Amino acid sequence: MSLLEIKNLNVKYKVEGKEINAVRNISLNVEAKDSIGIVGESGSGKSTLAMAILRLLPEKIVETTGEIIFDGINLLEISENKLRKIRWKDISVVFQKSMNSLSPVHKIGFQIKDIYKVHEPNATDEEIKEKVLELFKLVNLADRVYDLYPHELSGGMMQRVSIALSLIFYPKLLILDEATTALDVVTQGQILDEIMKLQEKLHLTRIMITHDVSVVSSTCKKVAVMYAGYLLEFGYVSDVLTKPKHPYTQGLLKSFPSFTGERKDLRGIKGSLPDLSILHGGCIFADRCEEATSICFREKPKMVKFSDSWNVACHLVVGEDYE
Ligand code: ATP
Ligand code: SF4
Ligand code: MG
Repeated sequence: MSLLEIKNLNVKYKVEGKEINAVRNISLNVEAKDSIGIVGESGSGKSTLAMAILRLLPEKIVETTGEIIFDGINLLEISENKLRKIRWKDISVVFQKSMNSLSPVHKIGFQIKDIYKVHEPNATDEEIKEKVLELFKLVNLADRVYDLYPHELSGGMMQRVSIALSLIFYPKLLILDEATTALDVVTQGQILDEIMKLQEKLHLTRIMITHDVSVVSSTCKKVAVMYAGYLLEFGYVSDVLTKPKHPYTQGLLKSFPSFTGERKDLRGIKGSLPDLSILHGGCIFADRCEEATSICFREKPKMVKFSDSWNVACHLVVGEDYE
């Protein structure tokens, strides 16, 4: 059974008289214990999708339609109060600079206790500290970090604290949005290893948003490829990243050195993302696609099931309709 079912999700930002279609008609199933990487160039809507799941987008300028069913509940329909109980406890998210919201004048441990008690008012200070230190150990942080001020921590330590905190209630779903991108390669590798071990141990489901296809290849089971708000290809990493069906995925992979270390053609994809405020009739990638034919400019390709676990939206790919 799916833990998270996203159905026909559309997210629009309404700014300066324009409508920016940041997420367009995305449907995606996340099974329990899945690890899904979401890739796509900058501006393709990855963070918007992550924030829409937890309704963290600024409601005044955002219109969201569709369904986001988590554990049987449509998150787009429940009250803010109910959602607050799900955030962090059941679905936890770590952004690149999650810890920037901490106050500089209080120690880390003091602030954690405060936030923790919003969810568990009866928890004692000792219980909370014990739990936090246990998680600190899992992410390789010394106990003394609990009594430090945020400015006393390096960027890598801060991200470890964020990741430890995101796990404090053993959430069912963990979303990492470029959570390790700013770290040096060694620290990033260590944290990713720790996250994978924790996932195994805590039976987490993980969605991982990153620019770095090689990170997805080494840490995720499945991959979703986004472009200009659309989901273009979704399937197992072992399929999509080794023999991609969608011309955009093929181009994206050419932008990265081969995962085996051998250098590939790094020319990437010519052109840039289309204006998201314009609605196109045809394939969103047609202007940049070397394989486009006349139908591509007229008709939007449907998402089809190329195989049971491999979905692609391209006129060149034949398969059963994806519901
Ligand atoms: P990146 O890889 O750079 O993080 P992304 O794939 O996460 O990019 P988003 O941040 O989701 O992309 O942005 C998708 C589109 O929505 C972009 O065109 C962006 O400019 C627009 N957008 C994002 N946030 C807002 C906002 N608060 N107001 C208006 N437009 C926004
Ligand atoms: Fe290229 Fe046409 Fe496929 Fe779009 S539908 S990716 S334009 S071949
Ligand atoms: Mg982003």
